[in-house]
Amino acid sequence: MRRKLVVGNWKMNGSIAINKALLEALIAGVRKLDNSDYVVCAPYPYLCQTQQLLQGTNIAWGAQNLCSTDNGALTGAVAPHMLVDYGCRYVIIGHSERRALFHETDDTAAARFLAAQGAGITPIFCMGESAEERDSDWTEYIVGRQLDSLIRRFGPYVLNNAVLAYEPLWAVGSDQPATPEQAQEVHTFIRKRIARCDAEVAAHVRILYGGSVTAENAEGLFRMPDIDGGLIGRASLRAEDFIPICRAADATTVQGLEALIA
Ligand code: PEP
Repeated sequence: MRRKLVVGNWKMNGSIAINKALLEALIAGVRKLDNSDYVVCAPYPYLCQTQQLLQGTNIAWGAQNLCSTDNGALTGAVAPHMLVDYGCRYVIIGHSERRALFHETDDTAAARFLAAQGAGITPIFCMGESAEERDSDWTEYIVGRQLDSLIRRFGPYVLNNAVLAYEPLWAVGSDQPATPEQAQEVHTFIRKRIARCDAEVAAHVRILYGGSVTAENAEGLFRMPDIDGGLIGRASLRAEDFIPICRAADATTVQGLEALIA
């Protein structure tokens, strides 16, 4: 039985004052939701503040990227051990915005993935196809290639300490979420592809869905058998949107447990 996981990706948003109000509301809102896991990925300058406010709560925190090498002459880069200094347990890797706007590739994402694990940080590895690729029936080819960029290099067991996120580009930031059935279809594809290498790894790895998840559509998505939670962009910036999504995760984890027992 996989616990649901909800990850908020703040992207390049926030301020000291805004974050304080948001995090205090989140702490109060998810305090009693014991059945799932919750994470906030803040911009680098706010990791210290995030750590100070979230330590000792049931919300973990992380970053939105890292550099694949350690200390060195790399202006503007942030090394894995620096994230560890601020208590980060998670880091987003290969987000579609990093791939599209900052020229990240399967190779650089794979290197960052391994660097995160090397530092003891759980990578949240993003995959997804564009609208044109979906229209051309290339979804499985694209997502399969992105997944293979890890499995072929490092073997399937690296997924024991990782989270996967299916984030179709046409759904991210678009108000056009995948339907639960569309997302489930790709999640099944991902899990089956991993199972070809190792069934145990496939059964345990959490695969999140991301792309226009809201308080209204979260429960329908999280009820699908292979959707283990969400990677949430815009709706993670408002407590009144994010808390109901966390509640939906908590409720669907419980429903899954009840179904197992019945
Ligand atoms: C994201 O950027 O990872 C994302 C899913 O964004 P949104 O929820 O705003 O679509």
